[in-house]
Amino acid sequence: YQEFARPKREETATNQTSPTNHLVARPGPPTIVEGIEGCIGNTPLLRIKSLSDATGCEILGKAEFLNGAGQSSKDRVALSMIEIAEEQGILTPHSGDTIYEGTSGSTGISLATLARAKGYLAHICLPSDQAIEKSNLLLKLGAIVDRVPPAPIVEKDNFVNRARALAKMHTASSGKLTAEASSDLPAPQAQMTRGRGFFADQFENEANWRAHYDGTGPELYAQCGGHIDAFVAGAGTGGTISGVARYLKPLLPKLTVVLADPQGSGLFNRVVYGVMFDVKEREGTRRRRQVDTIVEGIGINRVTANFEAGKELIDDAVRVTDAQALAMARWLVEKDGIFVGSSSAVNCIAAVKTARTLGPGHRIVTVLSDSGSRHLSRFWAKAGDVGGATDTKLEDVMNA
Ligand code: PMP
Repeated sequence: YQEFARPKREETATNQTSPTNHLVARPGPPTIVEGIEGCIGNTPLLRIKSLSDATGCEILGKAEFLNGAGQSSKDRVALSMIEIAEEQGILTPHSGDTIYEGTSGSTGISLATLARAKGYLAHICLPSDQAIEKSNLLLKLGAIVDRVPPAPIVEKDNFVNRARALAKMHTASSGKLTAEASSDLPAPQAQMTRGRGFFADQFENEANWRAHYDGTGPELYAQCGGHIDAFVAGAGTGGTISGVARYLKPLLPKLTVVLADPQGSGLFNRVVYGVMFDVKEREGTRRRRQVDTIVEGIGINRVTANFEAGKELIDDAVRVTDAQALAMARWLVEKDGIFVGSSSAVNCIAAVKTARTLGPGHRIVTVLSDSGSRHLSRFWAKAGDVGGATDTKLEDVMNA
């Protein structure tokens, strides 16, 4: 895999951005891009040295935390959903239209950022148990933030259902409230005097998996020169795994696609046994249950349109415990200086398991969805400080 190694000093000598002649660590010529949207996509594929050395496979992580708007893989999806809605005439820039979304945080942050850039309002509903830094950031971006008590999808007050209902209410009442009449109302109602309400609907909106089909998949294929043995990813909406699998599988028929599933999620059973529920449980019972994990962004108990789009292409699944995810997050800092969020840690546990199943010499690609700085108050508070540790064994992480 020498061809993907970090460029040597001589190779980058013509690619200087500073007079100091330091080695350019991120290859490719620096360019001018068109606004914040231009900072989305084309993320590096990062060789995770510690995991590659320990497994004898090459384990590569798509550095999605380097997307430049909301700093996660959700930038691609937010841009895709907005642009397709604009093409369809559902959204008009600088019209006062409001984008509503139910999100664990990342999609909301990407939507709120792009909303500012394009002249929309963003109204984000998120479960109140998600890390507080996400809602704080949304407020800084000028979004209206609804922190909704955690509730299963079948409940009216679930964060997704609430966003859908608010968008509908907005469109129904738009123009009917005068500015004067709305001045005493709380912000969500007051803003209904303007524009239309658009429910972005990342779970069911197929612009989601298409963003990964058009972007992430082709980028991975090009970055790997068409040589990938396995792709490993968690599913929150299913957009990433479906979009990438749909792009890569026809090109690479031998590719193994593996779902990384946190504890409490029903998707592992769906992939491995073909059912979302145990024999003793009815699906309704499952859907009434919260996904009980500290991991944010992945794990669900229903088949969304975006998961449906690729579910037949998923070959295997790995169930990952919170303890394993916490230990892997610490390992990645300790050994590689890579500081990621909880879903990336889940992906890396599943990538190591996949490496062990396939055996040495294979190339395994996974996703580093967001940075650990989005998870300081919850996941990383549990993980603790890494301190000076250097002697952790991978076995300790996998058996955590
Ligand atoms: N990681 C994080 C941090 C996320 O927010 C999400 C999306 N909710 C995912 C991973 C999963 O991606 P997808 O929705 O494409 O399945």
